[in-house]
Amino acid sequence: MHPLETRDVAAASIIRECTDRGNGVETGKGPGVWLDTPMIEKIGGKGTIEARIPAMYRMFAKYGIDMRKEPILVFPTLHYQNGGLDINVNGETTNIGNLFAAGEVVGGIHGRNRLMGNSLLDVVVFGRNAGRNAAARAKDVTVGKLSLDHLEKFEKELAEAGIETEKTSPKLLPKYTKEFKYVCKKMEEE
Ligand SMILES: Cc1cc2nc3c(=O)[nH]c(=O)nc-3n(C[C@H](O)[C@H](O)[C@H](O)COP(=O)(O)OP(=O)(O)OC[C@H]3O[C@@H](n4cnc5c(N)ncnc54)[C@H](O)[C@@H]3O)c2cc1C
Repeated sequence: MHPLETRDVAAASIIRECTDRGNGVETGKGPGVWLDTPMIEKIGGKGTIEARIPAMYRMFAKYGIDMRKEPILVFPTLHYQNGGLDINVNGETTNIGNLFAAGEVVGGIHGRNRLMGNSLLDVVVFGRNAGRNAAARAKDVTVGKLSLDHLEKFEKELAEAGIETEKTSPKLLPKYTKEFKYVCKKMEEE
């Protein structure tokens, strides 16, 4: 792949090498590929890593890995989801009145593939818009009685569809996000 390809192409290329082509490096937690981080300093000069990606440098240093001198093992994981909630120009969801949304949970802002760095821009611009409109709307809204009726409705829908699950509410995050937290915790303990 070209080094300036979009991130989904880079991720797909790594996954292809590790799965279809069997070229992955065994990490003990599944296959990965070497990211040639010393090359960053070879190209950019000494000190580039600490200046440009200090948090990553510190994160690996914590585990005794000097990414300026040795490559690091990587594998793609979830970075962003092109949300799903449909909003109008005021940031109000089109299906549920008085519910305003902004950010990653919203669909359609970025088309099929979000440009790098544009999520934080989206959060600030659309968040401000939704926040201002929600605050204005709140003045005219009488708050109803809080209940868990929506969860009961969700459980009923699951039962009707014949889906058995231990989930207590709708969730989008895939299972491996929990496993990732578990791996991080284990690494910290060790
Ligand atoms: C590794 C990584 C690097 C990234 N780098 C960049 C970058 O360089 N530039 C960029 O623009 N974007 C980047 N992004 C994407 C960007 O960080 C996110 O899209 C953005 O932070 C989403 O903001 P948000 O407020 O919409 O959602 P979130 O930040 O996910 O906030 C949602 C919040 O809701 C809370 N929550 C969830 N469920 C409930 C509930 N039931 N009740 C109450 N609270 C709940 C969560 O705990 C969370 O605090 C990156 C993402 C990742 C994962």
